[in-house]
Amino acid sequence: MSIRRRDFVLGASTAAGLATLAAPAVLGQAKPKVLVIGGGPGGATAAKYIARDSQGAIEVTLIEPLRSYTTCFHSNLYLGGFRSFESITHGYDKLAGHGVKVVHAAASAIDRDKKQAVLADGARVAYDRAVVAPGIDLKYDSVPGWGREHEKTMPHAWKPGEQTSLLKARLDAVPDGGVIVVVAPPNPYRCPPGPYERVSMMAHALKQSGRTRCKIFVVDAKDSFSKQGLFQQGWERHYPGLVEWQGPKTHEGLKSVDPAAGTVATGFETYRNCALVNVIPAQMAGQIARDAGLANQTGFCPIKPESMQSAMDANIYVLGDATIAGDMPKSCFAANSQAKVAALMIRGELQHARTFPARYNNTCWSLIEADDAVKVGGRYEAKDGKIAAVETFVSKTDETPETRKQTQAENMGWYAGITADIFG
Ligand SMILES: Cc1cc2nc3c(=O)[nH]c(=O)nc-3n(C[C@H](O)[C@H](O)[C@H](O)COP(=O)(O)OP(=O)(O)OC[C@H]3O[C@@H](n4cnc5c(N)ncnc54)[C@H](O)[C@@H]3O)c2cc1C
Repeated sequence: MSIRRRDFVLGASTAAGLATLAAPAVLGQAKPKVLVIGGGPGGATAAKYIARDSQGAIEVTLIEPLRSYTTCFHSNLYLGGFRSFESITHGYDKLAGHGVKVVHAAASAIDRDKKQAVLADGARVAYDRAVVAPGIDLKYDSVPGWGREHEKTMPHAWKPGEQTSLLKARLDAVPDGGVIVVVAPPNPYRCPPGPYERVSMMAHALKQSGRTRCKIFVVDAKDSFSKQGLFQQGWERHYPGLVEWQGPKTHEGLKSVDPAAGTVATGFETYRNCALVNVIPAQMAGQIARDAGLANQTGFCPIKPESMQSAMDANIYVLGDATIAGDMPKSCFAANSQAKVAALMIRGELQHARTFPARYNNTCWSLIEADDAVKVGGRYEAKDGKIAAVETFVSKTDETPETRKQTQAENMGWYAGITADIFG
């Protein structure tokens, strides 16, 4: 009885939303409980697969403040005019059909000793196993002169929704001849090819609208980046003279940005009166994971590669961008793949379901210009204490236009398939 009694200590406003969960239990018949924090690709996939595959034997609750989720993946295609905002926005209604109880609230803490999450209004929700998938937080102090109060003037658009539309509105307003600066982040960050696909889509939008006297400067914190040869070849081919990438050896360090004046100062040059500055800062695991002591000194969460179980707490699984996932990048594909491993392992623990050795997959597609997409990816397994690549592939610079067009068709098919897998 004691297990059931500590299940819910509800605050007033959440009580109604959770009323069905608080139904009195019959002694000895309590179902195991899985609490999922965060309804992105990691959390929503895990919630769906555990609820669906346990066929009601495990009670699954998903805590997510957003009522609809706009994907970062394909947000660059929205920027380039290849997708509508609606087409990258998804609801949570269908998860209920798989038996997931969705609670639209934010978790403010995890009480690991009591195995309870505390919601923003003080309500407590008990778990036998928790899945923590809050994505990333931005390090607002990582770019000198820029902070949270400047994200409207110099948007990051590295968290989706309002920021994504703001960046598009700002891009659409850039006059011909205007200067755009994209500040690209240090490793590790969400979506390694993302900044460079974004630059491609910005260049596409400028070219399409005849603003060919514009210039995009990429001030990068890194010496090299994902699919660099492919992107740089694409920029030369489709947007000659429009894009200039600079690593630290060229720009000699980002000294400061001045949001009020629209200035970006590097050791090499100062860009004044910029029409648009897109600051993508350094990143770390979402606050709830850090506050719960699931992250280490890197700011991200170590996991056991054979299960996605937290290295800090055997009752918690951490997924997606918040984790240190070895050779896997921080991507939607990776988070979805990790979620399926965790779902299986959790059912193994709570339901004695048969488990298999963890196998992970990832592919990251990037659109450079219409019908010209490239990809990078791999297969991964638990090896030598980390998630290690056992096979990798990447597009080649000498591919035919037909191959690139086919790669873009795969990209669109992947998006339709994975969003149905996560939210459908
Ligand atoms: C521009 C861009 C382009 C990208 N393109 C691609 C691509 O083409 N392919 C690809 O695979 N990936 C891509 N990505 C990466 C992809 O978006 C992320 O890797 C993915 O969203 C990670 O999923 P996640 O579940 O770990 O986190 P998220 O998607 O960030 O989801 C986390 C969720 O947790 C919720 N949350 C946070 N804190 C709390 C809390 N305290 N309580 C409750 N809920 C909470 C948030 O509201 C959010 O909904 C791109 C990213 C960007 C920025």
